[in-house]
Amino acid sequence: MNNPDWHKKNYRRNLVDMHINAWDPEFMSKFDPKAYVDCMIAANVSCCMVYANSHAGYAYWPAPDGNHHPGLKGRDVFGEIVELCHKNNIEVIAYYTLVFDNWAYNRDPSWRIVSADGTSDMEHYDERGGRYGHTCPNSEGYREFTVKQVSDLVKRYDFESIFFDMTFWPHVCYCDNCKRRYEKELGGVMPRIVNWNDPKWNAFQAKREEWLNEYAFLCTNLVKSIKPAVTVNHQYSTITQSWLVGVTEDHTDPCDYVGGDFYAGPTEQGLICKLFNSLTGSFEFHTSRCLDLRDHTTSKTAEHLKLQSCIALAHNGAFLFIDAIDPAGAMNSDFYKQMGVILAEFSEYEQYLGGTIVADAAVLFDMWSKFNPRDSGKSVMDPGFRLGSTTVKMPHLDAVVSAVRALKEKHIPYTVIGRRNLKNAIDKYRLLILPDILRLSDEAAEDIRAFVKAGGRVYASGRTGLTSLCDVFGIEVLGETEQQFTYMAPTAEGKHYFADSTPQYPLAIHGSQQIVKAKPGAETLALLTLPYTESTTKSCFVSIHSDPPGCSTKNPALIFNNYGKGKIIWAAGAIEAHNQGVQDRVFIACVEELLDRRTSFVFEAPPAAEAICFAQDGGVIVSVLSTQATLPPVTAHGLRIKVDLKGKQCEKVMLLPAKTEIKYIETDGAVQFDLPPLELFQMFKICYRD
Ligand SMILES: [Zn+2]
Repeated sequence: MNNPDWHKKNYRRNLVDMHINAWDPEFMSKFDPKAYVDCMIAANVSCCMVYANSHAGYAYWPAPDGNHHPGLKGRDVFGEIVELCHKNNIEVIAYYTLVFDNWAYNRDPSWRIVSADGTSDMEHYDERGGRYGHTCPNSEGYREFTVKQVSDLVKRYDFESIFFDMTFWPHVCYCDNCKRRYEKELGGVMPRIVNWNDPKWNAFQAKREEWLNEYAFLCTNLVKSIKPAVTVNHQYSTITQSWLVGVTEDHTDPCDYVGGDFYAGPTEQGLICKLFNSLTGSFEFHTSRCLDLRDHTTSKTAEHLKLQSCIALAHNGAFLFIDAIDPAGAMNSDFYKQMGVILAEFSEYEQYLGGTIVADAAVLFDMWSKFNPRDSGKSVMDPGFRLGSTTVKMPHLDAVVSAVRALKEKHIPYTVIGRRNLKNAIDKYRLLILPDILRLSDEAAEDIRAFVKAGGRVYASGRTGLTSLCDVFGIEVLGETEQQFTYMAPTAEGKHYFADSTPQYPLAIHGSQQIVKAKPGAETLALLTLPYTESTTKSCFVSIHSDPPGCSTKNPALIFNNYGKGKIIWAAGAIEAHNQGVQDRVFIACVEELLDRRTSFVFEAPPAAEAICFAQDGGVIVSVLSTQATLPPVTAHGLRIKVDLKGKQCEKVMLLPAKTEIKYIETDGAVQFDLPPLELFQMFKICYRD
């Protein structure tokens, strides 16, 4: 306790969801803190995130407002767990849910989040997930309640950290508190139509982000004012959710380290781990024991859980697995024994973790660009905007995910960054990848300009920096195509980027492109080609299923430009967003050209294998993952890696954790070795000679 750095060396974590209601006296009546902690010991967990309250709104300690879970009959199970964990050298994060709190929702209707139609979610049981009562961060009453509850919790118990769940907007709120605050701070009536071209809408969205961030800081500062050494973080899985939730990169500021729960595949997990590592170094990746949170009994396979834990481990992150309590309070102890085997193995690698990720390229994920400009004109009540909707499109995020997948499959050393990592980027990365960024800030644009001036390379696509970086890109913007299916036809100069395309059969872009003129000195690598008809011309088509290329233009679609000491390849549409081999090859050809075909490591392996390197003072840690879709993975043979020694000499290469020495050769200032057959995970250490 009293060590604010505790999280930097604690990697094996657990959370047991306890969102249990209270209408049956049986609920939580059999909960046993000792059985709970025994499960944690069996699972080799080094840190427990423990429920202080839940979305149902009941507290697991004798909270000041009388919302103690009735099934506990007065027992302070939170306090008992904290004590037992500490007795067993398990560190503790208190779990406290904000905003999603049925007890608070029911206590005072003026605390509720109110949708544009004047109703709240619990009035719509079927269509809007009416199990959840949402309270508004702008409600003074609810804020006072939060302060009273959290103050009591922090004063009464000693724990290392507190995790505030659900610090986001599940709706655009039109409650009286929000209306008053809007009137006072912006004036007038709150907009109800989404319009990304309307300054009024943009100002409202900026306010929503600001209000949420202020509320997150209220909670963080409250904790720190009582116990400064207690670390705080807020749910950050919302970074992949749309503008609706109001979470931007500023959400990092009220967090000592970032973390959140995610349910997608290995590519997405790698993306999140890299981004989190860039934002705060130490981070926490949460995922569920079952395939998703709706399922209470179907555990993921051991290989699946092992792979997910190893992806976090390979990125120097903590792995937190989420289980859920049985309604009466029991837990499946067999599962914890199985998890214990995985985490015992995991723990043997921990002593080798640390350092800085080795990345030649950095993909910028811009958290202010999580919207679709084509949604302008829709009502805020549009079903596509609902929390968790799968129909909402976020072209920037789609382009980031696809770019990351292509880089991973082609073994380009890369990471994912936020705007804050653009400061002095020249010292960290050689190439910035800027995929279809919709709202680059002036500050971020200036950081990018400085990066290129100093010799950095940039790949930028689509709508990135059109108002601020045209001179850097070597373009003059004339407009955007009406057509949502367009083409890029290679020129003689650009032919070598387009292995699979010709002027007759140009590269397809599933979206619009910018219409530009090249500035003097910029080299045109491809030209914009349009279909015969515009997609809006419903009655006149050429080919009934498709929009074949028909109209060549003289407008550049891919440009190479020099600026300062740097180089840029600019694409009029997001080539990297396609999740298809043909477009991948063009994107990767641009990346390789910009990196001068020289990278910090060269990994000869199938696309489903990934190498992640961390540079340390004494050497390099190389983690290798097999991320095949079907588990258990097929054993991969014949993998080889060559890692640039950056001027150092190699003393030895060891396979960890056994420290088995591996044969290697030194060549061209790099160390090269063949990997033993890869099943799921391997870690090596390249040790430098002193
Ligand atoms: Zn409100």
